[in-house]
Amino acid sequence: ARKKLLKLKKTPAVTLDGVEITLLANIELPDHAIAAVEAGASGVGLFRSEFLFMGRTGHAHKLPTEEEQFTAYRAAVQAMKGRPVTIRTLDVGADKPLDTTDHNILNPALGLRAIRYCLAEPQIFMTQLRAMLRASAFGPVHILIPMMAHAFEIDQSLAMIEQAKAELKAENKKFDADIHVGAMIEVPAAALTLPLFVKKLDFLSVGTNDLIQYTLAIDRADHEVAHLYNDIHPAILQLLHMTVTAAEKAGIPVAICGGMAGDRRLTRLLIGMGFRELSMPAALLPEIKQEILNTNLENLQPHIKKILRSYDPQIIQDVVASLASVA
Ligand code: PEP
Ligand code: MG
Repeated sequence: ARKKLLKLKKTPAVTLDGVEITLLANIELPDHAIAAVEAGASGVGLFRSEFLFMGRTGHAHKLPTEEEQFTAYRAAVQAMKGRPVTIRTLDVGADKPLDTTDHNILNPALGLRAIRYCLAEPQIFMTQLRAMLRASAFGPVHILIPMMAHAFEIDQSLAMIEQAKAELKAENKKFDADIHVGAMIEVPAAALTLPLFVKKLDFLSVGTNDLIQYTLAIDRADHEVAHLYNDIHPAILQLLHMTVTAAEKAGIPVAICGGMAGDRRLTRLLIGMGFRELSMPAALLPEIKQEILNTNLENLQPHIKKILRSYDPQIIQDVVASLASVA
């Protein structure tokens, strides 16, 4: 069994009809990069940097300095040995509170979180951008902006990245001048208006956890509404379809880094819809790869068309389930 796993690790994730799918790992701390390499990941698709900022009791609740962040990002980059590392900028608020978060906010998921928080706290954002840029001198780093909903948020983020570059240059500090910048598609507004701003970006990554939460108006952390959480709701599938179509048109890569990417029952659906990059917890990577190796993409197409034409959740559920038996 060990030998078989080792062989699987070295096998590229290619469908029976020859389409390669890039499998990436989600990490929360630099150490997790080791497991990502072990699992055969082609890179880190999502480094949730906020975990460096949370639970800071041992640091008198102070946020990590540029140096501390730089060291952490560089460690992940070096562990990945030349494979790209997509670091998401601070995504705090809602289900990922800082020690200093005001817990009395009525609707934290709709409040000052992620990129909204960073643009409201430019000093915190700048410190992080500088640390990320400095880590990019040690291997490929991609910067990922969470919760993007308005075009101006991209403009302001890109301007701050340029400012960080200018500062580092003036200080003679090394960084990758062509660092890729992408956005998470996890707010329905972003998916719906993607063609308007996609040209500003180098890549996209779909956060299905939040996309489902915001589209279906279901708190992802509230057990009382968990039964309404449906990742193949027709509204979600339409937004995913719009996203992959807009990315293809713009010629930029689009990944999925939310929970759907690590769900084996959805692998055929997602690659059938056109997604070519999936990012997931490293432990799930072998089973997703196994699924891809057994899939003939071409033969899925009539079923995918049927799914995308349907607005009936029951039909969608049945056809998605039937994908498993398409030879
Ligand atoms: C998501 O929303 O799907 C996502 C990947 O980000 P997070 O789960 O960290 O909010
Ligand atoms: Mg999210």
